[in-house]
Amino acid sequence: MTNPAITYEEFTGDPFEHLGPEGETKGALEVLQWAYDTYGSSITYACSFGAEGIVLIDLIAKVKKDAHIVFLDTEIHFQETYDLIDKVKKRYPDLNIEMKKPELTLEQQAEKHGSALWKREPDQCCFIRKIKPLEEALSGATAWVSGLRREQSVSRSHTNFINKDDRFESIKVCPLIYWTWDDVWQYIRVNDLDYNDLHDQGYPSIGCIPCTFAADSNDRSGRWKGFNKTECGLHTTGNNESE
Ligand code: SF4
Repeated sequence: MTNPAITYEEFTGDPFEHLGPEGETKGALEVLQWAYDTYGSSITYACSFGAEGIVLIDLIAKVKKDAHIVFLDTEIHFQETYDLIDKVKKRYPDLNIEMKKPELTLEQQAEKHGSALWKREPDQCCFIRKIKPLEEALSGATAWVSGLRREQSVSRSHTNFINKDDRFESIKVCPLIYWTWDDVWQYIRVNDLDYNDLHDQGYPSIGCIPCTFAADSNDRSGRWKGFNKTECGLHTTGNNESE
């Protein structure tokens, strides 16, 4: 480590508050360089392999080519997502990509909570298949990287580069806060990055099969249709779900 690490307990504010949306990467590369210099091997990136994820992986590989990346493998993702992960592994062979699975298989979850829990209690399903596994993946990590962008939703509009994350009692690093959807796609095209084929079929935001639908706008409106829910819970505080 070359910088004094900011921990959850010591966090007093975003040290990059002065950085605006200027520059080629709108602060992303600078923030990532600081984060990996500061946290070394105790930072991880929880990647969903969406469009922002592909950009972040490419940027992270520039500053830490053997970075730890965790994918929350709920076992109910699209084949296109798994195909993309295979391509990314080939393009960045030094990255340490962990496929983190939940404690319960889909069959065990159905036995314990009934079949298709996502149709009845999506918060509980996300808790079992995403939040608990990420808690485990982040145990021992001081900080984690996320691809949140301010324009994605009202709840994300106040995200800073460096955030105190009460959900996981960690530091959450969000290098893409100033990026627009167009910025993301321009970077993908200019750098000829692989991306999920479903983006070309009208899916801007891609998660688990039962909870992902095509959408007209470039936001999260295609997620959890029929429920008052646009977040899986990884980026919200408070926790009423139980396993
Ligand atoms: Fe379950 Fe849907 Fe959440 Fe995936 S996105 S964990 S299927 S509720």
